[in-house]
Amino acid sequence: MAKISINIKEGTVAKESDVIIGIDLGTTNSLVAYIKDEQAVAVKGKDGKSTLVPSIIHFNSESNIEVGETAKSQLIADPANTIYSVKRLMGRSYKDVLDHENYFSYKIIDEDTESLVKVRIKDKFYTPIELSAEILKELKKRIEEVLEKKVSRAVITVPAYFNDAQRQATRDAGKLAGLDVLRIVNEPTAASLAYGIGLDEADEQTIAVYDLGGGTFDISILQSQNGIFEVLATNGDTFLGGDDFDRAIMDFWMEKNGMDKSVLKENKNLAQAIRLKSEEAKKALSSTDSFSESLGDFVCNITKTEFENAVQPLVQRTIDRCKSALKDAGLGVDKINHIVMVGGSTRIPLVKKSVAEFFGKEVFDKLDPDEVVALGAAIQADVLAGKQKNILLLDVTPLSLGIETVGGLMDTIIPRNSKVPTKGGRQYTTSVDGQKNLKVAVFQGERDLVDSNRKLGEFVLKGIPPMPAGLPKIEIQFILNADGILTVKAKELRSNVEQEIEIKSSYGLSEEEMALMLLDSIKNAESDMKARVLLEARNEGNNVYKSTLRFLKQNETILSEEEKSKTMEFANALNITIQGDDKDAINKAMESLNAYTEPLAHKAMDVNIKDALKGKKL
Ligand code: AMP
Repeated sequence: MAKISINIKEGTVAKESDVIIGIDLGTTNSLVAYIKDEQAVAVKGKDGKSTLVPSIIHFNSESNIEVGETAKSQLIADPANTIYSVKRLMGRSYKDVLDHENYFSYKIIDEDTESLVKVRIKDKFYTPIELSAEILKELKKRIEEVLEKKVSRAVITVPAYFNDAQRQATRDAGKLAGLDVLRIVNEPTAASLAYGIGLDEADEQTIAVYDLGGGTFDISILQSQNGIFEVLATNGDTFLGGDDFDRAIMDFWMEKNGMDKSVLKENKNLAQAIRLKSEEAKKALSSTDSFSESLGDFVCNITKTEFENAVQPLVQRTIDRCKSALKDAGLGVDKINHIVMVGGSTRIPLVKKSVAEFFGKEVFDKLDPDEVVALGAAIQADVLAGKQKNILLLDVTPLSLGIETVGGLMDTIIPRNSKVPTKGGRQYTTSVDGQKNLKVAVFQGERDLVDSNRKLGEFVLKGIPPMPAGLPKIEIQFILNADGILTVKAKELRSNVEQEIEIKSSYGLSEEEMALMLLDSIKNAESDMKARVLLEARNEGNNVYKSTLRFLKQNETILSEEEKSKTMEFANALNITIQGDDKDAINKAMESLNAYTEPLAHKAMDVNIKDALKGKKL
């Protein structure tokens, strides 16, 4: 085990630690912070206006990328090429986001519901990782301008409920932006650290972090003990936030002005103007008792009391979520020592009052609720740099551990910098019908392709009962003990066939060598990512191609000759692109095939259902 720090710029192991930055990579806004004169500060843009960078990316007509305020101004003018809320897509499959597809104005690709989401902009396809990396690059640029030197190490925050894939996607985005991500920290943990809660090791605290932003609400119940934070429960609503408060004001005004809501559907410009006015009113009412303005003949008057009556049900919904979270944590409200407020919407006095009343305690609200997570990330970064004496640095695993998957890709199971002892696991399946053996090759390193990583060992899981491809459930488990001994277990869950090996993970590697492996991964992040997306597109293309052939065979009698030959034409075209190196061509071919076969699949399903019913006596 090791605690290493590297100097990316010089390619050496750093003697002294450089500044490590804290990043809040948010759904609507992102921020970067660092420790200046022992104080966490969020960094403003060149114009000195705001610490917030809107998490928005615009692709202009020359396919140049703009991030932040300039991109935000394109939301209405050029919605198809302006990407927002990319965080909602991180580590997600199309199936995960299907219910909210209408929420996005840009094109989300859906040829295979199981595979990770991609975004289509003009003729190119982007992963959420690549898009998030653009936001991170902007933040990196912002802080480098202020510090007048390069930064290379960061702590990035994620929601407490983010799963392994979402966390890994965030790490990858950091790497692609040229950042060595030392740790992924939970947002509520960072918010608590910003208020100094949990910094004292001897302290044992139970904390509720109430986070109401523009579009989402999260409540997390945490426990800090011996300097370690544990998430006891999380709850929330991914579609409840300040935007809903704006809408409540809009509805109130529409009624007051005797207008039907359908007017807004027809007049998009008016709708937008009223929406902006309602947000202005809401913000004003956080510090005044009434708001009165107008938009032409449309009167925009509202008092604080009227506003509070209108949004009371929304606030109540957040309180109900708090109750559920406490229940899940098995705690009564009296067990909560601190309540931390996060997110712009917690500036609303009614929100503060309701939360304080529910928990029966004053809330922590002195720090800027938009900045508090980034500030905490900077503090966590400082702790990692060894600058805060109270907190112990835990032993961590210096390089990621994972296995090889289809096409030679590295699938990380235990990310680097995980505290040891630790374990991780994931389920896999077979790719060939009747496959009896599965080779499990274990690698260490940060590169996307196993060829560039260090092989630690391999074994074969034998005796999987013959089943169609995709049916076996093979669980791979990594258990890393405090001495760095890694045990890898593979088990087929349907038949209970299992196998395991033990490996010394850092045997024969010096700290310098480890540092160089890390450096290499950051230097090659961009080309690695290109290789990864191409391989992933090929794998996906292959799956789609195979399932198309299966579909044709199964529905031979249902489909017309023309439908069959046309489908085959699209499938062959796809097959040709798979042999090539152009991932956008593969994606486009998949999209075309899918567009053609979707109605056929519906037709086949209808016939099959009818046949099934016919066979039964009703
Ligand atoms: P966030 O996602 O945390 O940046 O939160 C942004 C949300 O906070 C938006 O809905 C804003 O309208 C809202 N907000 C910002 N300032 C205020 C304020 N002074 N009073 C009420 N809501 C605010």
